Amino acid sequence: MTTKIIHFKVNGKLETAEFGSDVSAADVKDLFRAAAEAEPHHILKMYNREGTVVKISPRLEANSRESYYRLEVVASDLQGVATASDLDNMEHRLHHLESRVLQDVGTTPDIMSELKSHVESFRRKLESVEHLSWIGLFKDDGDQHLAKSPPKPRTPQLNVQEERQQVRRKFLNISSLQVTEEVRELLKTPIFDNWQWEEAEMLVLLQVMFTNLDFLTAFHIELEVLQNFLFEVYCHYNNIPFHNFQHCFCVTQMMYGLIWLTDLRNKLGRTDLFIMLTSALCHDLDHPGYNNVYQINAQTDLALRYNDISPLENHHCAVAFGILAKPECNILKNLSSEQYKHIRGGMIKCILATDMAQHNEILNRFRSIQSAFDFSNKEHKEVLMKIMVKVSDISNEARPMAVAAPWLDCLLQEFFNQSDREKQKGLPVSPFMDRDKVSKPSSQTSFIRFVLLPLFSELSKLFPCLEQHILEPVGRALEYYSVMEKASRDEEATTKP
Ligand code: 5GP
Ligand code: MN
Repeated sequence: MTTKIIHFKVNGKLETAEFGSDVSAADVKDLFRAAAEAEPHHILKMYNREGTVVKISPRLEANSRESYYRLEVVASDLQGVATASDLDNMEHRLHHLESRVLQDVGTTPDIMSELKSHVESFRRKLESVEHLSWIGLFKDDGDQHLAKSPPKPRTPQLNVQEERQQVRRKFLNISSLQVTEEVRELLKTPIFDNWQWEEAEMLVLLQVMFTNLDFLTAFHIELEVLQNFLFEVYCHYNNIPFHNFQHCFCVTQMMYGLIWLTDLRNKLGRTDLFIMLTSALCHDLDHPGYNNVYQINAQTDLALRYNDISPLENHHCAVAFGILAKPECNILKNLSSEQYKHIRGGMIKCILATDMAQHNEILNRFRSIQSAFDFSNKEHKEVLMKIMVKVSDISNEARPMAVAAPWLDCLLQEFFNQSDREKQKGLPVSPFMDRDKVSKPSSQTSFIRFVLLPLFSELSKLFPCLEQHILEPVGRALEYYSVMEKASRDEEATTKP
């Protein structure tokens, strides 16, 4: 076994890491995470001497002391560095000044318009540069790597609308740049790390998915309409711990990966693939962070509107078609009414299938047809499409531990918020959401044993290549959480009087 020595600078100190060729990606990430004294929710980035982002993985190139990498916790605050937030401040002050002048003089003087256009042009420059190194993008014209600058911290003074508009501007600014081949390939696999990307970048990656599956050509979608649609989808995910835009991105990316891994492009029609990817994208739109049981028990507006029948999933789907009803976002507008009906019907079925209350029924149906599965049978295809969306939806544990672990924190945070509210309102509390009863291992061992393994193994029977890509990682996660569960049980036993 060969060992690799990596020299890197973190928090101003030059450090050395050593690992063997058989080390796992998760271990390498953990090693650097520990070295940076980073919290689980922090995002780490490694830069080489040219300032280009390099992937933190076992394949990280060995280097010398002189050519050390720079390791940074990019989620931390950026004091003293001129960023877009300074620019926001400047714009805000300028706006204030303009209204004062308008009040006094009645018109905006030329000098002020000039100043505004300078600030706007500076913003464009800053934003385009800011994103290039961060996303690993290269300009089309030649191979010039643009200077790296750290990402912008969240700007609490901005309201939601302004923040979204910033994301929109960044998305449009960087959308014409070419995503590197390495990122395009990673995007087709379950090891893709969502935590390395911010919202505008994820929108670009979603655009790549739609483009790479030839949807723009097949369904005559104009790029601008696709961009408007993706941006509206982003706007309709709420800023909540789990069911947020990041979750939407992960589910869509997993679907995209599964389509490539199983070679579904040669087994299903383009329309079916489009239904699956778009359903994944829309499947949790406007999720309020409280599940169906809460909706029904608390008799919320959603439960009333949908008569307690999958209130959330009905809502997600209705919001999706509400977005598509706007002509500038309607990626279905150039289709025949037959095609539109077919896609609408397909998306409704796929999105409603994500209600976990339907889980056993759908899985049993798939089990019954799996051994004689026929890709030309309409009903078989429909069940498979639902299964694919379901698998993508609950696939976090199929990802590398370093990617999956923060997702569990997010999920439990949302669960605990719900159970706290249920206690406060005197509503029934689901035990699996109760902070006094649940632990990470207890939550995962039963979910993996009873939900993930049966579902993933059934799909892997139809596509044996998935064993290695989703079934085995989930098996490893079960092992990991079982060991943790046992350790905490043993500890409890020894500390009890
Ligand atoms: P979603 O609400 O995302 O459409 O449906 C998936 C549901 O499955 C989640 O709300 C959650 O209850 C459950 N789920 C998904 N992933 C996990 C996981 O990793 N652990 C546990 N315990 N539940 C999960
Ligand atoms: Mn979901």
